[in-house]
Amino acid sequence: MFRSDDVWHLLYRLLWKIKANPRIVGNPADPDVIEAERRAKQVSRDIHKMHAFVRFNQVDVDGEEHFIAWHKPQHKILRAGAGFFKRRFGAMRWSILTPDESAHWNLKAVTYGPGVETQPTFSDSIEAHWLTYYRSIFNPARIKIKAMKKEMPVRYWESMPETRIISELLAEAPARVEQMRLMAQPRATVPPHETLTELKASCRDCSACPISCSGGKAVFGEGPATARIMLVGEQPGDEEDLSGRPFIGPAGQLLNEVLESCEIDRAKLYVTNAVKHFKWEPRGKRRLHQRPNGSEILACKPWLLAELESIKPSVIVCFGSTAAQSVLGIKISLTDSLGKVFRGPNNVEVFVTYHPSAALRVPSADKRDEIVSAIAMTMKGVADRFYREVTPADSSSANTVSV
Ligand code: URA
Repeated sequence: MFRSDDVWHLLYRLLWKIKANPRIVGNPADPDVIEAERRAKQVSRDIHKMHAFVRFNQVDVDGEEHFIAWHKPQHKILRAGAGFFKRRFGAMRWSILTPDESAHWNLKAVTYGPGVETQPTFSDSIEAHWLTYYRSIFNPARIKIKAMKKEMPVRYWESMPETRIISELLAEAPARVEQMRLMAQPRATVPPHETLTELKASCRDCSACPISCSGGKAVFGEGPATARIMLVGEQPGDEEDLSGRPFIGPAGQLLNEVLESCEIDRAKLYVTNAVKHFKWEPRGKRRLHQRPNGSEILACKPWLLAELESIKPSVIVCFGSTAAQSVLGIKISLTDSLGKVFRGPNNVEVFVTYHPSAALRVPSADKRDEIVSAIAMTMKGVADRFYREVTPADSSSANTVSV
């Protein structure tokens, strides 16, 4: 079975040696015996690979269901390997095509026919199952590319549908590992509650994430429980932490100006943050804002979900990427997301725009105006649909407001 031009030379030489001394077969020092054993091992490994890597495709042959696989073994092992498929898949009609020859099982006997040099195209319903199965067993935390290629040599990949998604799975792997790591992080436990006020009270002393160790109290959302529009920021800042109210510092002032310019009454909106604690580092006498990381965002998410569940807004506006990451569960590019509609928990519409504090940080007035205009544009769009409802009888009057 070993694929080599000198296969008969070796066997003939061995035959003469055995004729002269039958015990030569067990002689580990004879070079021909060593070579024959090496080849036998490779052949049996190849048979094992065939058993593992044959992938059947379902086809219809004269109205009968038939399973066909194309496989390219390294050695001439089809006949030696076919018995396994007869035993394992005895109840289905199958054919295994290899470049050397083909094997066919008709529920009674295996017959052999000519080979098929290249992989035929099958239109197959099984392939999707293979891909689903492979995705499900692929563990991104245990990637060993060298070992994978050794165990599943690249030469067999052509006929294995799952290998077509390997590069995709490898590309996704770091993000999936990060996700797995985050899933194992601690999260806030939200106790049963009847009202938003009760929810707020139970959040105050939350200690689910490391930020709470700094001693600050959680700053919960604020606004009517009937609000249709929910605004989500990143985390409370210094002033919010001291007062216990969201968006009342410089970023909050800017937000108020934008809302006023859009003729939106802030008191009718629910305003909250993705992370309820203020994360900071000391800088002289100041407490300098630090961005919350992925596990802190995730630890706090149950509170945000509970607020959502309680208020059931019609739309959410996320200020900045941290809010978007929490609400949407994915990292997004802010500039690519402006003006797009996303869907959040319970399919709620979600818009993403700049955080007001981004406008406070940029040095140029032009850039500041650009950011403020983008926030205003988002807020106007949202307000036109969810805040100012034009009555059908007077659709020309954009000022007809019903809240
Ligand atoms: N920035 C935020 O994201 N939220 C606040 O409450 C204040 C500043």
